[in-house]
Amino acid sequence: MKKDILGIQFDDVTLDEAAQVGREILESDSFHYVVTPNPEFILAAETDLEFRNILNQADLVLPDGIGVVHSAKILGTPLKGRVPGIDFASRMLEILNETGGRLFLLGAKPGVAEMAGENILAQHPNITLCGTQDGYFTDELEVVRKVADAKPDLLFVCLGAPKQEKWMSRWGVLTGAKLAIGLGGALDVFAGTVHRAPEIWQKMGMEWAYRLAREPKRIVRMARLPLVLSRAAEQRMFHKKQDGSL
Ligand code: UDP
Repeated sequence: MKKDILGIQFDDVTLDEAAQVGREILESDSFHYVVTPNPEFILAAETDLEFRNILNQADLVLPDGIGVVHSAKILGTPLKGRVPGIDFASRMLEILNETGGRLFLLGAKPGVAEMAGENILAQHPNITLCGTQDGYFTDELEVVRKVADAKPDLLFVCLGAPKQEKWMSRWGVLTGAKLAIGLGGALDVFAGTVHRAPEIWQKMGMEWAYRLAREPKRIVRMARLPLVLSRAAEQRMFHKKQDGSL
């Protein structure tokens, strides 16, 4: 079931439900893409309509960020919970390992995708790592060709938003992959160059604070995030007024 959170149509699913959809996609024979919007995406999509449409046309729109979950609650349309993109990606790797499928890693600084690939293969030895490519390329078509020649089933696209979503929407179908997932900084985490917050922080919905403490430069990006909550509150009040329930 879809729920509209400030213009983005999120799928109201648990991680298990999302993984089931992902499994069906991996068993299919056509291209699909999955997006993992956080509050930064919501703000960017307010003014970038192309980005908003691309998000809303994805096969799965996963709420990646506690700010999305809080906004949904404020709007009176609560979501089942947060589904971090990296957790969904890990579940897709488990499924790919069962079937011995092919994985392509696209994005991050030179060398990172290779390191991520090594770590992934150490845990999932049945996966074939069919290719890697850093995210700082200039010739788009050359990269599309490289991915298509590698014949991946699963493709991680880690170029940051909205670049990765625009890339998937524009080129994804030409790659021949069954499933592409836009995953931001996930390759840095798989490579071990960036660490996720300990589980207790994740459970408390404080992963963002951990990340901010490790990367203080993110304050500029994060400073705008409370805006999403106030937008949700404004929208809720506006609708209540229209209903006459305030
Ligand atoms: N990146 C890239 N190409 C670019 C810009 C960014 O490959 O042109 C990578 C960057 O190296 C990082 C990821 O995209 O690995 C974006 O990380 P960010 O922290 O922005 O994503 P988040 O995890 O916040 O979604």
